[in-house]
Amino acid sequence: MKEREASSRELSHPGKKGKAGAQAAEVSGQALGRMVEAFTRLPGIGKKSAERLAFAILGMPPEEAFGIAQAILDLKNNSRYCTVCNNITEDEICGLCRDEKRDPSRICVVEEPSNILILEKTGIFRGRYHALMGSLSPLDGIGPEDLRIDGLMERLRAGGVKEVIIATNPTVKGETTALYLSKLIKPLGISVSRIAYGLPVGGDIEYADENTVLRALEGRREM
Ligand SMILES: [Zn+2]
Repeated sequence: MKEREASSRELSHPGKKGKAGAQAAEVSGQALGRMVEAFTRLPGIGKKSAERLAFAILGMPPEEAFGIAQAILDLKNNSRYCTVCNNITEDEICGLCRDEKRDPSRICVVEEPSNILILEKTGIFRGRYHALMGSLSPLDGIGPEDLRIDGLMERLRAGGVKEVIIATNPTVKGETTALYLSKLIKPLGISVSRIAYGLPVGGDIEYADENTVLRALEGRREM
């Protein structure tokens, strides 16, 4: 109870006391609680971090805090998946697919669009990408028809692709997916390679540092 009084003094106008002041503190407390709850929905954010973030926003100048709110709205309103590779983009076709300087004869297959960003940070791969939007997981009932494999095969059948580099995660699901794809792609006469690990087995590309991803990409082996 004492703690609550102390924080309400800080958050509401010092001149306002009595019922109105208490009401304001109650409202801001609810808003703060909602903000904390919202942050805990983010991956890797526990209650304590969420509280720290919520208080950081509370302490920001309004325009800075509104900028964050606007960035979330813009992200959700304007983002879509590239119709070719499933990368995140604001246009129908993403910048990587439109970039004429990139090598269209090589496609790197990843599980999630966020993996593209991580591979791009290494700067070593100059081909195109394809995000599957997940990985095969028979136990969870996720089969080939649940992934964007059709789109990949369509791109490959259109011709011009010489190599497919499979950069799915070094997990059971990732390996299952890689094996499935290699069996599907090889009959087309396209070389299939799997990135080397480097990456911790059972891990996720998402959490690997750039150097590890770079080594994994350089050390890829034909499947
Ligand atoms: Zn694209």
